[in-house]
Amino acid sequence: MKKAAIYVHIPFCLAKCRYCTFNSYAGLHPLQERYVEALVREIAESARTEAPLRASSVYLGGGTPTVLSTNLLGRILNACAQQFAVVGDAEITIEANPGTVEPSHLFDLRALGVNRLSVGVQSFDDKLLGLLGRLHDAARAAETYHQARKAGFDNISLDLIYGLPTQSLSQWETDLSTAVDLRPEHLSLYCLSVEQGTTLAGLIAGGELSSPDPDLAAAMYERAEDLLAAAGYVHYEISNWALSGRECQHNTTYWLNRPYLGFGAGAHSYSGEFRYHNVLSPEEYVQRVESRQEIVGGREKIDRATELSETMIMGLRLCRGVSFSEFEERFAASFVQIYGDQMREMIELGLLDVNGSGVRLTPRGRLLGNDVFERFLPLGID
Ligand code: SF4
Repeated sequence: MKKAAIYVHIPFCLAKCRYCTFNSYAGLHPLQERYVEALVREIAESARTEAPLRASSVYLGGGTPTVLSTNLLGRILNACAQQFAVVGDAEITIEANPGTVEPSHLFDLRALGVNRLSVGVQSFDDKLLGLLGRLHDAARAAETYHQARKAGFDNISLDLIYGLPTQSLSQWETDLSTAVDLRPEHLSLYCLSVEQGTTLAGLIAGGELSSPDPDLAAAMYERAEDLLAAAGYVHYEISNWALSGRECQHNTTYWLNRPYLGFGAGAHSYSGEFRYHNVLSPEEYVQRVESRQEIVGGREKIDRATELSETMIMGLRLCRGVSFSEFEERFAASFVQIYGDQMREMIELGLLDVNGSGVRLTPRGRLLGNDVFERFLPLGID
């Protein structure tokens, strides 16, 4: 039976954060019931068209999935369990924002089989949280964390953002040490990217906020590497750290460029042969499901050159890098024959190193990842 990771997109949020470009919306609350009904139908239909599938992980992401009631979340998870063989030890994650999960909700989530919580803390500095447009404060984030522990979550990830306007290195160090003191199993650290069209970009363009300093952001990243290593966290992906054995299984499927199925508005899927995505708008998605119209908004055939390129670009995000033997087994071809030139060039620049069993980014390469990835784009490979 084929194995795939399952992603379910929940596009509802209580408010739109100032930096956010995700497919998420405030004020769509009245659509929730119909949206979940549409999801359940899409999951059922997909199971009829796909060969029987073993789900190695289920990830409820968003948006803010925890704005849905336990009843609605239960319907989604039941649909997955009915349609796919969810393996016994499957990692079942839900993203949660502090302030959207009461203690009883957390107990309910555990009872539904959710065994991993990914909490969007972003910062423990109330001023920076305000700047980002987050609805919670630092005290609420810590409280949510402790409540999740009480509810029985023994696998918790915290998200933090660095490289923010006005953020100093010492503020970032305080964020990191506050997070480490809580001892979550997993930490995701994202560098702020100021995207056109966001409120934050407008404030920066209008001179009300300073632009983030990329050199300071790089220093913050290096500080995180040192501080988290000293605290016993393994740096396993460019933006992710975990206690031993607590790496995110679901996201590792993406980094290994393995198949996944995405459900909901704008969700992407990868079958190994095709990548496709659903229409972006939640209203349009619901209407199309209800009227039995096509919900796929775009489809791309993944040829060999694209698969090679994506396997390299995603695989190099992992700190262990790309294994020569796994690569050669997957593509029935010699790694050095295909990528020898790129590898040698990047080694000379100090951005890649080879450890006998594979190739990986150096610490400097992790800071300049995009420069390395560019060299592995599919051009000219067949
Ligand atoms: S909670 Fe997350 S998804 Fe929702 S608006 Fe904020 S950043 Fe975007």
